[in-house]
Amino acid sequence: MPVVMVTRFAPSPTGALHLGHAFSAIQAHDRARREGGTFLLRIEDIDGTRSRPEHVQGIFDDLARLGLTWDGPVIFQSARLAAYELALSQLRERGLLYPCFCTRADIAASSTAPHGPAGTVYPGTCRLLDPAIRQARLATEPHAWRIDMVRAVAAIGGVEGLVWRDELAGVVPADPLAHGDVVLGRKDAPASYHLAVTVDDAAQGVTHIVRGVDLFEATHVHRVLQALLDLPVPVYRHHALLTDAAGNRLAKRHGAPSLASLYAAGQDGSVLAAMLRRGQAPPGFALPPA
Ligand code: GLU
Repeated sequence: MPVVMVTRFAPSPTGALHLGHAFSAIQAHDRARREGGTFLLRIEDIDGTRSRPEHVQGIFDDLARLGLTWDGPVIFQSARLAAYELALSQLRERGLLYPCFCTRADIAASSTAPHGPAGTVYPGTCRLLDPAIRQARLATEPHAWRIDMVRAVAAIGGVEGLVWRDELAGVVPADPLAHGDVVLGRKDAPASYHLAVTVDDAAQGVTHIVRGVDLFEATHVHRVLQALLDLPVPVYRHHALLTDAAGNRLAKRHGAPSLASLYAAGQDGSVLAAMLRRGQAPPGFALPPA
């Protein structure tokens, strides 16, 4: 039986959507629609302190104004915590996780913290803790759970053959070791982005992950998690990012105008979507060449 293509858009409701989100959502939506496939919407709201219900409603409204429709129920990560806990406990039982008590400041201050493709690589401080001290601290101190990447790679028999297929970049060999011992269970949230996104894409049967190239590096980590948790490997398409006129990527925190503010200023959503599909950006923005 032919496999139906399943894509998704997975925004975090920590701010209003901007044009970059619109561009990404349209690509994921259209990729599925062209193939008679399914397009899913997942709200990535595991970060309880930064996620806001008004942004969830804003996401629904903004996508509807672009003329995008999604299939089936919207999945909320906040309702999926048991699935993340199950994955964490499987990895913990295999001895592939360790608790980390470090603060961001501790890591930033560490002179041994090397730099990796996605920023500072954790220097492994808590991996080296004496087991008795670790047990005592575990009972009393807030902690994250980190993957012991060297052990994890050994557990899957090494990185040879660990690749993903990217529709734009080709076959990419995964290099999880360059990312070091990333966090899978956060101090303040039951799972990290890496764990939740990998577990959910598999649970929802996503066959094609269409997302911005800013998440390309994260795929090295997702690929090792798929191997450890015995999950299927989707095809990826990490598309180039829409930028401002100076070529800077759009970000909520750098004042990118929200879609809602463009609509409020008279921008019609379906006209905007048609423009983005033609490879044109509104004045003040730039689209990567197709
Ligand atoms: N929730 C992530 C974000 O808003 C995107 C997740 C993904 O597409 O993998 O940046």
